[in-house]
Amino acid sequence: MSVSIVVPIYNERENIRLLYDQLVAALPELGCPWEAVLVDDGSTDGSSDELDRLAREDHRVKIVRFRRNYGQTAAMGAGIRYATGDVIVTMDGDLQNDPSDIAKMVRKLDEGYDLVHGWRKDRQDALVNRKIPSKIANWIISKTTGFPIHDLGCTLKAIRREIAQELELYGEMHRFIPILAHGRGARCVEVVTQHHPRRFGTTKYGISRTIRVVLDLITVKYMLDYFASPMKFFGRIGFGCWAVALVAGLSTLGMKMLAGVDMTGNPLLGLTILSIMVGVQFLSLGLLGEVHARVYYATQPNQNYAVRELVNFTPASEPSASRWKIAA
Ligand code: UDP
Ligand code: MG
Repeated sequence: MSVSIVVPIYNERENIRLLYDQLVAALPELGCPWEAVLVDDGSTDGSSDELDRLAREDHRVKIVRFRRNYGQTAAMGAGIRYATGDVIVTMDGDLQNDPSDIAKMVRKLDEGYDLVHGWRKDRQDALVNRKIPSKIANWIISKTTGFPIHDLGCTLKAIRREIAQELELYGEMHRFIPILAHGRGARCVEVVTQHHPRRFGTTKYGISRTIRVVLDLITVKYMLDYFASPMKFFGRIGFGCWAVALVAGLSTLGMKMLAGVDMTGNPLLGLTILSIMVGVQFLSLGLLGEVHARVYYATQPNQNYAVRELVNFTPASEPSASRWKIAA
């Protein structure tokens, strides 16, 4: 087995060397080869030189350098893509996560899990604009997705590479990694991890992130439940509109026949016509979505199913060899 540590770095000059020292001290406990994939997300504070120095000294340190700042999600996505270890450990580059937790998390994978995510039970961040919004967001996300979780924001995670590389990370999606992976059938588990206050540099986020996360939640919810069959989502709304149209239409007729209410002057007639048309719109949207889903799955490697393993096949065209085995 081998492990890749993936770390997004954006203006963390003072932290880089210390992080490397912590990794070098903690990783021998794993007892396996490791690499550190440090993603330089358009740093402008001299972090890039610091990273280059490290890479010259130790060839286990690999750098993916972005042309400009693309954000933490893109940085993590790139790190995961270029990582070569069997297990990918993601963490922050600001020393808030503790590398001494890594061995514990990787060992947890051996118990049969595909993804281990951290829970910063004793989180060391500002209370009002970080911890409280985060608690609320975690609660909402947990309720909406039905995924039991305490702390989605903890970047410290250990993931099997084939699963990590299957994930599609956009926007702020890196914080939904456990949920996305779970949606693709990964066995996930949460472990309590340590958390330290930031000593150097500044946080890149504020309260406004909460809104972005909630918007991403809507996307994730849709992706998980309806991405492969949008008609089930839009079709239901369409039928709902037609049900409203039916009730409103029958009421219009009934009022005309029983109470002599003039149909053209009855606002319910307007509602009937509107609901029929809106219903048609939603059903058409569903059909377009269905076409889109087919185009999507036909043009890219991800399938709408995930294979855990293949038994007694020969690896002819399958890219990820770790899934192949011969039954003993
Ligand atoms: N980061 C990044 N690109 C960005 C913002 C952040 O690569 O645009 C990195 C940052 O260098 C750090 C990690 O993502 O290693 C987490 O960022 P931060 O500590 O600011 O977030 P917080 O811990 O406050 O949620
Ligand atoms: Mg931080």
